[in-house]
Amino acid sequence: MAAKIIDGKALAEQVRARVRAEVQELTAAGLQPGLAVILVGEDPASQVYVRNKERACADVGIRSLVHRLPAATSQEELLALIDRLNADPAVHGILVQVPLPPGLRADELQRAVDPDKDVDGFHPVNAGRLLLGQPGFVPCTPAGILELVKSTGTEIAGCEAVVVGRSATVGKPTATLLLAENATVTVCHSKTRNLPDVCRRGEILVVAVGRRELVKGDWIRPGAVVIDVGINRGEDKLYGDVEFASAREVAGFLTPVPGGVGPMTVAMLMVNTVKAARLAAIQGGRG
Ligand code: NAD
Repeated sequence: MAAKIIDGKALAEQVRARVRAEVQELTAAGLQPGLAVILVGEDPASQVYVRNKERACADVGIRSLVHRLPAATSQEELLALIDRLNADPAVHGILVQVPLPPGLRADELQRAVDPDKDVDGFHPVNAGRLLLGQPGFVPCTPAGILELVKSTGTEIAGCEAVVVGRSATVGKPTATLLLAENATVTVCHSKTRNLPDVCRRGEILVVAVGRRELVKGDWIRPGAVVIDVGINRGEDKLYGDVEFASAREVAGFLTPVPGGVGPMTVAMLMVNTVKAARLAAIQGGRG
């Protein structure tokens, strides 16, 4: 039987509707959530991503401010801007769009963001909190992946989950989230032996590699929930890391590319920004 296609756009709209209602309530109480985005240089994909984030903010009522800066901007100028944004009470979330032009050090900039405004969840403090099971900001793509899995009604506890890819922004945090949900998690990477065999163990299979159609239908356990994170630009269209046509014959649930993980990533950024605004209100109240 063909897999059910998980509609990431529809799920993202549900999330945004919840966020919109929360933003209305906060704005009425005098606390409109605000997101500052730093975009340096002319990377075309980044321009598109940032425009999508601006649109999503406008759609839910979050105030967004994009700092579009030339590629020649120095590390020191960016650090000074982040300092100003950290101190600005109208800014609740700050994100530095990556990749940055050569010569700029993204990790240092991400570390400079106040962890309580780190809506991307890339600051080491938030990475540590996630690993320790403490409250903090969870990176948006992994948070969206978890929502997509949950939307299938799958009981995650006790499941065999396989995550292909171990990046700090997608693979590792996704594995950590699944572990926190009591899945038995295997993480695969470029040195994994017998990748197809390991993938076939997964009742949940998350693929975040960046290689067009790496995972074939016969790598998939029948009935598995398959989340395809990959975005690979082909000559004609975008491709995922999973071969869609063969995978849909075997999987139980499958995300499309585009229209799966991407919209949920942006929706979770809205969730994190509202969370940051609430956090600021609590801290302000304490102050
Ligand atoms: P990355 O390059 O940082 O990490 C890729 C990972 O894949 C590495 O851990 C590497 O060990 C592993 N890998 C490489 N070749 C492999 C192979 N042959 N077999 C098994 N593992 C292999 O990439 P990333 O930032 O994690 O992104 C992965 C993909 O997800 C990319 O296509 C990216 O564009 C996409 N992505 C999508 C979203 C979204 O919102 N939809 C967000 C982030 C990333």
